[in-house]
Amino acid sequence: MFPWQISNWQNLTKSYQDNRLAHGLLFYGTAGIGKKSFAIEFAHWLMCEQPLVDRSCGNCKSCQLIKAESNPDFIKIYPEEDGKAIKVDQIRDLIGKISLTSHGDGSRVILISPADSLNINASNSLLKTLEEPPANTILILITDKPSKLMATIRSRTQLVRFELPTEEHGLKWLSEQNIDKSDLVLKLCAGAPLAAVAMTEDDGLLLRDKLFNNWQELAHGTADPLESAAMWVKDGFKIKANLPLNWVSSWILDMIRCLQGGHIDSIANVDYAQSLQKLAGQLDLKSVYNLLDRLNDTIRLTDTPANQLMLVEGLLLHWAGLKRN
Ligand SMILES: [Zn+2]
Repeated sequence: MFPWQISNWQNLTKSYQDNRLAHGLLFYGTAGIGKKSFAIEFAHWLMCEQPLVDRSCGNCKSCQLIKAESNPDFIKIYPEEDGKAIKVDQIRDLIGKISLTSHGDGSRVILISPADSLNINASNSLLKTLEEPPANTILILITDKPSKLMATIRSRTQLVRFELPTEEHGLKWLSEQNIDKSDLVLKLCAGAPLAAVAMTEDDGLLLRDKLFNNWQELAHGTADPLESAAMWVKDGFKIKANLPLNWVSSWILDMIRCLQGGHIDSIANVDYAQSLQKLAGQLDLKSVYNLLDRLNDTIRLTDTPANQLMLVEGLLLHWAGLKRN
């Protein structure tokens, strides 16, 4: 487990030993802090025949099967395609499997991630299993967006909150992973260390620079919004569809902070602080708020099959066309 998850580990393992652990658990907290890898480690521990205080033994039959990725008592339910829904057929399939007795003597664990991608039918079909799971069966649901889950699912689980590490712990861990500019990336990823690592691995910082330069050129009228949009979708969306738009969101929020007279320390994009101040200085607060609304609509719609290019074109045209003084 990660160093910032020790208390989660202690609480959960103690609940289990005291026979107080619920059969349905909902792990929730910010994206990029290691909830899923924690859940996998905890699942291994639950299934282990000779668990140690802080980990599974690694040697017993269950642990060996897990290493070979063939432990039938560990069932993972993910969307069949990234970003798509978990379908009712997957849950029906699961229910069929767990109606049979478990293979080992230990627990059987079902991991569902991300739980917010359960569609309505899948959620409904999971309810009864959450209410009355077969003996020794523990369901772990994982989400960054607990409010997107059906209330009936939430109410049948024990909520387990995962906290962000403190800035000090996050930076210490990142320096152990030899991450460059750890200070900056941790800030950009709102304190989530695994998100910070992912960003540096994919050359995210270079891409962010490229898009920010283009963002400034659009404001100065030296780049064409339509050509720019094509570049954003081609280069920008290849890491993760909405990531560049989340960056834009942080630039806009920083501009709002500048216009509200915030101190320079309150700016998240520390490396762009001067440029953002300059961009903000040409605009009035109301038009920046409108821009933020426009962006949030764009982010919401790019989650759907809508035409991404057209949406980004609309956003960049709006940004380029703002009245500047
Ligand atoms: Zn073991």
